[in-house]
Amino acid sequence: MPIHFNDVDVVSEVAGLSSALIVPCNMCPAVTVAVRERKPFMQLFRSLLKSAPFDRYLKTLQTRLNENGVTTQIFKSVPYHQWFMCMWTSGKRKKLQKSAEQYDAVIVLGCESATETVRGVVNSDACKVVEGMKVAGIMNAELGFSLPADVSFKNCRTVPISR
Ligand code: SF4
Repeated sequence: MPIHFNDVDVVSEVAGLSSALIVPCNMCPAVTVAVRERKPFMQLFRSLLKSAPFDRYLKTLQTRLNENGVTTQIFKSVPYHQWFMCMWTSGKRKKLQKSAEQYDAVIVLGCESATETVRGVVNSDACKVVEGMKVAGIMNAELGFSLPADVSFKNCRTVPISR
């Protein structure tokens, strides 16, 4: 079911700005990164609350932006119920609104619904909203479990979304 993404060149999108808040949806983008790196999505014995490949992806993105003069922070969503940006509570949306006030840009890692969540609370005159991933299609995959407690997706295909 997760949406599958391609990356967008966010460095050029925020060129000339000095700060950006990275707002990741922790579900479909994290599955996308795990699948393309052929790594487990979750390793529950190591971490119950984060996907290691996506965590590394975020750190690499921060490093690249920093090398290009943009300081960043990740807007974290740790509990599972906050992983889906399309279903954030009003409290979480208000928290983003307040956090985004301190940045020149918000980089959204998620689908158009995730971007809609951001646009609903961020003042886009004062803070540029940048989409950091582009939808490639919907993933069709086999969910698999392996020892010690790994959750992976196998035989993945990307099904185009008909418009
Ligand atoms: S906001 Fe989009 S990317 Fe995130 S879980 Fe919902 S559908 Fe997937």
